[in-house]
Amino acid sequence: AARDRVAVIGSGNWGSVAAKLIASNTCCSDLFDDEVRMWVYEETLPSGEKLSQVINREKENVKYLPGVKLGSNVVAVPDLLNAVADATMLVFVTPHQFIEGICNTLKGNIRQNAIAISLIKGMEVKKDGPCMISNLITELLGIDCAVLMGANIANEVAVEKFSEATVGFRHDKRAADKWVRIFRRPYFLVTPVQDVEGVELCGTLKNVVAVAAGLVDGLDMGNNTKAAIMRIGLKEMRFFSKLLFPSVRDTTFFESCGVADLITTCLGGRNRRVADAFARNKGKRSFDDLETELLQGQKLQGVSTAREVYEVLRARKWEESFPLFSTVHLIATGALAPSAIVEYSEHTPRQI
Ligand code: NAD
Ligand code: 13P
Repeated sequence: AARDRVAVIGSGNWGSVAAKLIASNTCCSDLFDDEVRMWVYEETLPSGEKLSQVINREKENVKYLPGVKLGSNVVAVPDLLNAVADATMLVFVTPHQFIEGICNTLKGNIRQNAIAISLIKGMEVKKDGPCMISNLITELLGIDCAVLMGANIANEVAVEKFSEATVGFRHDKRAADKWVRIFRRPYFLVTPVQDVEGVELCGTLKNVVAVAAGLVDGLDMGNNTKAAIMRIGLKEMRFFSKLLFPSVRDTTFFESCGVADLITTCLGGRNRRVADAFARNKGKRSFDDLETELLQGQKLQGVSTAREVYEVLRARKWEESFPLFSTVHLIATGALAPSAIVEYSEHTPRQI
């Protein structure tokens, strides 16, 4: 049988690590083509060189994952259609706000027997309601899309510290097994779970809770308060997921994509870090401003996800049942002070 060819669409902090994981599995394999093409949203570095050229020379993403070699079989490609040409396995890993435009460019230009996986934590809200990113990919490209989520701070996986991840799939167990094979390493254990919505919603919603946890850190509230915020957040994550998709399974919240990702992101993630700075500045500097200064090109997902979640809550009159999610959004827009995260989250949610 012909070997599968993998293309990675995205080359940020986690995108670069995904390419490294995959490249270490495709090299010397009978099942996969050795070369892993990684689409790079091209930019010019301060040195005047193009990022894709430097990646190909150094085999290192000097901007988004400095100090880590990606593997000699990773090839950075600035042209999106060239990056996916002949690919049978498509890995989507960009900040969620860019995915729709990317899919529109890809429409009609991918192999129809290709399979996809999304590592993207986020959602879109359309006129007729919320749309998960994996669904958007399926709708726009007409191909099956699994998801991979987990407690995976990119810089830690990059230096091969042990962690776990969850592959969520809908029906296609064979495709899920292929995805497990392409990602797993001795230091990166991947478990398939037949609950694509549950896995994706865990990865998406924990970013909102991480913003809340960062606010609590910035307010110097201590560990008990932060644990309370994480507990309330986890309950809202589960309640929201099940309201949208009654098929979501409780057990999914005990996988790496659930409570483990919530913990690591609330302790060491970028959403936590920027929210901490936001609270320390008493909300006087915007999230956008702090993101630009602190993350230097990397992107936050939690603030836009809070807005998207809030749109869903408002449309369905569910705000009062999700005091933590709602409050994060209202703090981010400046409608409430950062201290509201504690005052409002402790309100007993109204039962729907
Ligand atoms: P990132 O935060 O490093 O984002 C920067 C990337 O966005 C760069 O590749 C940049 O070139 C690209 N970009 C900027 N403007 C663009 C545009 N207009 N169009 C297309 N691309 C553009 O990215 P990341 O860390 O790889 O995150 C991607 C996804 O993976 C997110 O949903 C994130 O939540 C998720 N994730 C991240 C981590 C992590 O630790 N970084 C871990 C797990 C999951
Ligand atoms: P941040 O985007 O908050 O850094 O979270 C990373 C992540 O998703 C870890 O699994």
